[in-house]
Amino acid sequence: MLSVQQLNPFEEVNLLFDRAADRLCLPDGCREMLRRPWRELQVQVPVRMDDGQVKVFAGYRVQHNAARGPYKGGVRYHPEAGLDEIRALASLMTWKTALVNIPFGGAKGGVQCDPNALSHDELNRLTRRYTIGIEHLIAPHRDIPAPDMGTNSQTMAWMMDAYGLIHGHSPAVVTGKPVELGGSLGREAATGRGVVTILQEMARDMPMDLKGARIVVQGLGNVGSWVVRLANEQGCKVVGASDASGGIYNPKGLDVTTLLAVKGLDVPADDLPAGERVTNQELLELDCDVLIPAAIGNVITAANASRIKARLIMEAANHPTTPEADEILADRGIVLLPDILVNAGGVIVSYFEWTQNLQEFRWDEDQVNQELAKILIAAYREMRAKAKTRNLTYREAALEIGVERVARAVELRGFV
Ligand code: GLU
Repeated sequence: MLSVQQLNPFEEVNLLFDRAADRLCLPDGCREMLRRPWRELQVQVPVRMDDGQVKVFAGYRVQHNAARGPYKGGVRYHPEAGLDEIRALASLMTWKTALVNIPFGGAKGGVQCDPNALSHDELNRLTRRYTIGIEHLIAPHRDIPAPDMGTNSQTMAWMMDAYGLIHGHSPAVVTGKPVELGGSLGREAATGRGVVTILQEMARDMPMDLKGARIVVQGLGNVGSWVVRLANEQGCKVVGASDASGGIYNPKGLDVTTLLAVKGLDVPADDLPAGERVTNQELLELDCDVLIPAAIGNVITAANASRIKARLIMEAANHPTTPEADEILADRGIVLLPDILVNAGGVIVSYFEWTQNLQEFRWDEDQVNQELAKILIAAYREMRAKAKTRNLTYREAALEIGVERVARAVELRGFV
């Protein structure tokens, strides 16, 4: 087995990219253009804290590729949101938008901070300073940020406001805004809804009966909590769930209403749904049908892949599986659906939000959900057909479709 323990997240993504580029026989120059980000910016983000002290954070915006349209991707607030992590996520955005065939490139931004340790006012000031730092790189037809881990619609409202103070009212400069400020109906639920849409398609094809299917969800943030809610509506039994403080397990199924009502699992046992406390490591190895990592990256590794019991892994998080773990899971016959398809619902509805803002028009929620399903299911079918005819894993097939589209756009533009 290949040993890739020393690789950072960006090198890991590029390892997958290189394999796709090899299969596509991409010329060296094009390969080099697609490996590296087009532009990277690091900015200082000084924030006056509530106690009067000034703390300085590191902020980033990495623009990976815009051959197919404006740069697009979230902004992450996390202690591990360093440059290599952001580069990896920016590159994944390029392949994600290409795979689902929406007219965007890929970017990612972030501020290395712990948002849970900051007050509402501190987060407001931090977001404004970060926005001022990257303001010259973003614009409605240049680069459009959105929420990611540690950020939400409130963060986007502050970004839109800070940008608008310089450039005039520009709702299309960010997506994932509050609905009251031009956000799209359905955007909040979109990533989780996309995960469950793909789950339904895959279950039909496997086949696996979703009624009573035992699912485990790591992460109860925006994506994880919507997955729990919508999978439960499809008749799945949520047997395990976790947040950063740890997990809870009940083989008979957790009470989803209590699970979703409780604000974080770090509360007295009486407030939690009935079940046994487990660590995040134990959670991943629980006996279940579907495992859905919906939190941080690199959680399924060579250290635990041989103990995973799920039949199907759906990557709702970005880059939760290392390349070594990928090989172990494939050898064990565990089906894995990759992040760039599974969590693409968010950026697809971001695309709808952007078009609604540009047209100064609003779609109703049913229309948003229907169009989302149409785009996602088409991408799923394309990926599955390629994987079957070419004997590729789903990750390989998905990446190859994305890389081929971007390479073609680069070639057609002819700017080299
Ligand atoms: N942060 C989300 C992602 O990783 C959404 C990005 C967007 O909507 O631009 O796909």
